[in-house]
This record gives sequence, structure tokens and C-alpha cells, in this order.
Amino acid sequence: MLFPTTIAGSLPKPGWLAETHKLWPKWRQEGDELARAKRDATLLWLKLQEDAGIDCLTEGEQSRQHFVHGFVEFVDGIDTANKVAMGIRNNRYEAIVPQVVGQLRLKGRAHATEARLARAHTKRQLRFTLPGPMTIMDTVKDAYYGDRIKTAMAFADLLNEEARALEKDGIDVIQFDEPAFNAYTDEAAGWGIEALHRAIDGLKCKTAVHICYGYGIKANIDWKAGLGAEWRQYEDFFPALAKSRIDQISLEAMHSRVPARLMGLLHGKEVIVGAIDVATNLIETPDEIEAVVAEALKFVPKDKLILGTNCGLAPLDTDIAIAKLEALGKGAGQARARHG
Ligand code: ZN
Repeated sequence: MLFPTTIAGSLPKPGWLAETHKLWPKWRQEGDELARAKRDATLLWLKLQEDAGIDCLTEGEQSRQHFVHGFVEFVDGIDTANKVAMGIRNNRYEAIVPQVVGQLRLKGRAHATEARLARAHTKRQLRFTLPGPMTIMDTVKDAYYGDRIKTAMAFADLLNEEARALEKDGIDVIQFDEPAFNAYTDEAAGWGIEALHRAIDGLKCKTAVHICYGYGIKANIDWKAGLGAEWRQYEDFFPALAKSRIDQISLEAMHSRVPARLMGLLHGKEVIVGAIDVATNLIETPDEIEAVVAEALKFVPKDKLILGTNCGLAPLDTDIAIAKLEALGKGAGQARARHG
């Protein structure tokens, strides 16, 4: 089937699970009740994604507070009690971050529960998202390794351990989220991709990297406003990604100032084109989505084109997120009818 649909990863958490409309929501339950609420929210989103016509589903990151820290909390060698302020994404904004204080090790499985739950309750393909090594490195303060690359490689080894286990749990696509690539484009083309290769080592399932311009939060919207008429960050590292062993590249397109021709730099790769804007509550029309597809098809062969979202939908209102998923399903259907 042409133009299969998927999403970048996160979905809003229901009000009975966590605070709503937040990127760092506080849980509303604890202990067993929290575990049950996470389970129920995951099942609900699997059903809603299926009904919207999404082909490759995620567990919506319902079991994690935040896409980076949801992994970091399972890592030994990190002091989460004494957080410090640090400029992140090349000082785009300041965050209060935990510190690396010793050798990094996984405490055990990070995401077995939600991965197995999702696998047991859908027959569709499953994509599982993990933060990329460069992005994790850029979201914690290193006080042990003394070197950015060494720290990122240490995280890459842990990600590989979890990714191999996720593959055994029945996950079809393992995706690493690397928003930091757009902040450090030269490093991305070099050791950034090397770290991804370390994270996917030995995997037989499909692999993906999601590189976006971030959630629709104010710091990102302000940053984008200063990036000029054309956003060409991708140009610096797409040629290197085209030569990499990563199968799928997920990028931003809807309402984006990224020139579509940059997709042409990803020769040979499956391209997940963001056809849903996460920075607006307006619901995309099938015609708008079809227009994004038509533009992408100038640079990507049609059997390599996957439709996705610009980024995660987590901070949005639940009803808006559902409507956007439905729009994606409908838009893909219309595009198939036109180009099939
Ligand atoms: Zn994103």
C-alpha cells in the first residue's frame, strides 16, 4: 500500500493519568493506580490510532513523563536529586537537568511493560521511540566522562541494549528522536550518526531517526521565527544520513519552511514526511495533506514515502490530537486514490 501512515511518537495524556497540555506533566496517580492508568491510556490510544487509519502505531509515550527523562530514569550513574540549570540545544533554552556522576548502566528494562502491552493488543505494526544519543547527551549535565562524544556513546550502548530487547518484544520499527541534530548540524553528520549506528547495532527490525524543529512550545516557535525564509539545517547532515544504515528518516514538512528539495538528499531512504503541524490547533484538510504529498513526490519515490506528523502531539488537547490523527488517515486515503 502506498503512503502508509504513522506518528512521530507522543500523544496527549488523559486528564486522569497526568496533567494535560504540558510537556512535563505531573502524574495524577501513584503506585498500582498509576500503572493501571498508564495501561488504560495506552490501550485507548492504540484503539484511537487504529480507528483513525494509522498503519504503524506507537504506545503514545503514555508511560513516560518526558521523552528523554522517561529513559534516563532507568539509567544508573545519574544523579536526579541534584539537578542543575543548563543551556540546551545550543543554548536555545535553559532546562533544569540531572547530572551524570558515574559510569552509565541500565538498571533493567526501561520500556518492556508498555511495549509488550501494545504488542498484545494490536495486529498493526508498532513503532517504538527512544531518545537519540546526542539528544540525551544534550539534556543531561556530564560531570563524569568529561567529553560530549564519550557521554553520547555511553548512552548509545544503553539504547542499543534496550532496542535489542524491544525488538524481541515484537516491535517493528525502532526510532531514535534526535532534535539535537538541528542544533548541532556539523556534529550530527559526524559522530551523531556514528552514535546512532552504535544504538542500532545488531538490530534486524527497521530503524528510524526523527529530526524535527521541536514541539510547538514558545521557545521553539521563537527560534524558528529567527531561522530565515528557508530552514536548511537538514542540508548539513542529510547526505551523511543517506549513506547511513538507518532505514527511515522522519522530518518536518507541513507549514514548515524546510525546502522540499532537501528530501532529495535522502536518496535510498524511506522518508516519513510530517503532514501534520503540531504547533497549531487548526485541523489539516485532506487537500492540504495531499499537497504535502505532491510536493514530496517531486523528490521521493512513491514507494518510499510514509506520512507522519511534524513532531509528537503530546502537548495538544486530546480532541485536537484525535482530529489530527483522523485528518492524517483521510489525507493519506485521498493521496492514495490520486497517486495509486
Ligand atoms: Zn519531534
